Amino acid sequence: MAGEIEVLVKQVMNRLQGGTTGSGLGIFKNMNDAVEACARAQKEYMKCSLADRTRIINAIRRVVYDNAEELSRLTVEETRMGNYEDKVAKNRLVADKTPGVEDLVSEAMTGDNGLTLIELSPFGVIGAITPTTNPTETLFCNSIGMLAAGNGVVFSPHPTAKNVSLKTIDLINRAIIDAGAPPNLITAVENPTLEETNVMVKHPRVNMLVATGGPGVVKVVLSSGKKAIGAGAGNPPAVVDESANIEKAAIDIIKGCSFDNNLPCVAEKEVLVEEKVADYLVFSMKGSGLAHFIEDPALIKRLEEKIISGENPNKNFIGRSAQVIAESVGLKIDGKIKVLCVEVPFEHPFVQHELMMPVLPIVRVKDFDDAMKKAIEVEHGYRHTAIMHSRNVEHLSALAKAMQTTIFVKNAPSYAGIGVGGEGCTTFTIAGPTGEGLTSARTFTRKRRCVLADSFNIR
Ligand code: NAD
Repeated sequence: MAGEIEVLVKQVMNRLQGGTTGSGLGIFKNMNDAVEACARAQKEYMKCSLADRTRIINAIRRVVYDNAEELSRLTVEETRMGNYEDKVAKNRLVADKTPGVEDLVSEAMTGDNGLTLIELSPFGVIGAITPTTNPTETLFCNSIGMLAAGNGVVFSPHPTAKNVSLKTIDLINRAIIDAGAPPNLITAVENPTLEETNVMVKHPRVNMLVATGGPGVVKVVLSSGKKAIGAGAGNPPAVVDESANIEKAAIDIIKGCSFDNNLPCVAEKEVLVEEKVADYLVFSMKGSGLAHFIEDPALIKRLEEKIISGENPNKNFIGRSAQVIAESVGLKIDGKIKVLCVEVPFEHPFVQHELMMPVLPIVRVKDFDDAMKKAIEVEHGYRHTAIMHSRNVEHLSALAKAMQTTIFVKNAPSYAGIGVGGEGCTTFTIAGPTGEGLTSARTFTRKRRCVLADSFNIR
């Protein structure tokens, strides 16, 4: 009984010490305070055992299980992007498949001179910038990986997902404090702005930066002079060659492209299909009842005027449903439709831009060599994700090698690459530009060597 009271008192005290504003635990008025508090908390956190860290990570997973529905609803309301069911699925995926402390594997070398250990240690305080497209998923996923590695995190969420992001940070803090974490191990400011983000980027107590977003923010962290991880934009092509199982390819492409209304950075953004099988692919997509083809050139032009604004996709349509986008050009489509498809030439802006909406451009290519050339070009050197449907092993290998993407998915929807129906862990921070790949706890560590001379070689 006395022990339980002691634990309760500790929890209350910890909560009282956490954060300084009415916006929630760990939420501060200004960035300097948020960073300083996180740095102090991380020092305390270093006293925690690996078992403590595991308990704390499990508490974050429970927050996801208990709140995925509400947070997904709030995200769709606030950002007006994506769809509720897929956001729930994405959050649960993070809880189930983001690696924890077990990801930190030490190396040992033994020999006549004794034992040398390579240990994966925390950086300290990480400044993590999160996107509007997967706001809560990225916060959960980064929190699990970064805390598993022993770090504290100062988050800089996207201003357009501010409320749901701060609520998520508050919920995580409540849960981890109850699980024994020091207060303020995760912090943010109540009004995230680009100025505050820049204060975080420059703050001397921030040891590592992780940016999940478009090219602009990746550039900001890579120019910081600090250790930085950039998880940037993509424009994933789905290549279909003449050997593919076309009916399956049609369904896989629709599923991947329409997932959360095309918001995931891995989602299919354009199809390059060999001429010989293009008609059958289109026929199969139409036959699924899930894709609506816009064929009238005047309507395609109208759609272009709506969803492309100057040089960029129109933000008002990013992550909106096929129905909302169709209605904007006066088209009424069935509620079951997931994707609007258009056949356009390779140079068309629908193909060249990362639209992040369920509008799927389809380009006919002459043969496999043409597909390969165009797939490389349209990916714009992001080295993010590519998908291929083929039963020709040589073609699959040739494209995978030529694309040099971080993720290459064969004969499945793109999301197989982040652990949905494909082997391996998940992440919502895929670091192509800086090469860490699918980030996990070990990504957020420093390698340190610990040498014991002349002993413990027992061979
Ligand atoms: P975004 O680049 O607009 O914003 C991302 C974050 O960066 C936000 O928090 C924003 O406030 C901040 N930011 C943007 N410009 C900044 C600047 N100049 N200085 C400081 N902070 C800045 O991206 P978004 O619309 O939120 O997300 C979509 C983009 O992110 C797409 O390009 C998508 O492919 C990419 N993305 C990549 C991954 C990945 O793992 N590689 C994951 C999700 C999203």
